[in-house]
Amino acid sequence: MNKTITLANGNGGEENNELISKVFYKHFKNDILEKSEDAAIIQGGELAFSTDSFTVSPLFFAGADIGKLAVCGTCNDLAMMGAKPKYLTCSVIIEEGFATRDLEKIVKSMKRELEINGAIVVSGDTKVVPKGSVDKIFINTTGIGEVTKKGISSNSITTNDVILVNRDIGCHGATIFAAREGIEMSSNLKSDCTSLYPQVKALIDADINITALRDATRGGLSAVLNEWSKQSNVCIEVEENSIPVSDEVNGICEMLGFEPGALANEGTFVLAIDKNDAQKALEILKTFEANTMASIIGKVTDTHLQKVVLNSAYGTQRFLDTPTGELLPRIC
Ligand code: MG
Repeated sequence: MNKTITLANGNGGEENNELISKVFYKHFKNDILEKSEDAAIIQGGELAFSTDSFTVSPLFFAGADIGKLAVCGTCNDLAMMGAKPKYLTCSVIIEEGFATRDLEKIVKSMKRELEINGAIVVSGDTKVVPKGSVDKIFINTTGIGEVTKKGISSNSITTNDVILVNRDIGCHGATIFAAREGIEMSSNLKSDCTSLYPQVKALIDADINITALRDATRGGLSAVLNEWSKQSNVCIEVEENSIPVSDEVNGICEMLGFEPGALANEGTFVLAIDKNDAQKALEILKTFEANTMASIIGKVTDTHLQKVVLNSAYGTQRFLDTPTGELLPRIC
């Protein structure tokens, strides 16, 4: 580890993993934490428990704001464990001088998103700090969900599974970047930020054999696939052609030299589904409005254990690595 923390230590990629394992896991070590799931499974598998802090800049952007994000982020991590979000806490750190009207706008948008999840805020905390001590507002939410489908785990993926993604990737990262740089896309580019519980519920209700789910937030699709290949000790082989990317996101990536697979998402998740159920799962995903580009993107093999292989459109192969460097700080 470096002597001081760098922005790269918060990137959702390689350096972030290093910080987590060498500082937090080292001292907090326990069996639940070490499963490295999206949410901790506690109380004999009955409850899912997760927390997330939100520092996004700007606070308001196409498709969402920090409030919507703060509810989606935590509720989605619960949903990824097959849990129905139930109870949330809401802690805010507000900078002196922040507009009350903006605060109310943020809280209203949290309320709207809580309703979609059928969850309520049952505890909270408010701190106001002197001007300059924090940039406008930071929000932390912690959530408890009721596990409705047990056994979903990123440590259980086998060659019996195929890999799907529910929609086109990279919209959130591209939107935040465009907003920050003042790039006018005069297009439909907006954050994918959405609550994923309704989609997970539809899959569970249809009795789909779900092995693992993970929302592709910081570090994007590339981070999730790499985490899974290591956690389940498998090789994940994806077809570049099958990974859905919108023209708008491709445009931003070409302009700035990003890989769509490394861009953050807030309503995009990766699924490891039993081969026999993959087609049915795809059909269910496509019934949701934002998911017209849902796709089966790859398979699980044992050729290069703990690696992700990308098969390009030209028939070449390369490893898809965990993103590194200061991707985009304050993306969420
Ligand atoms: Mg997650």
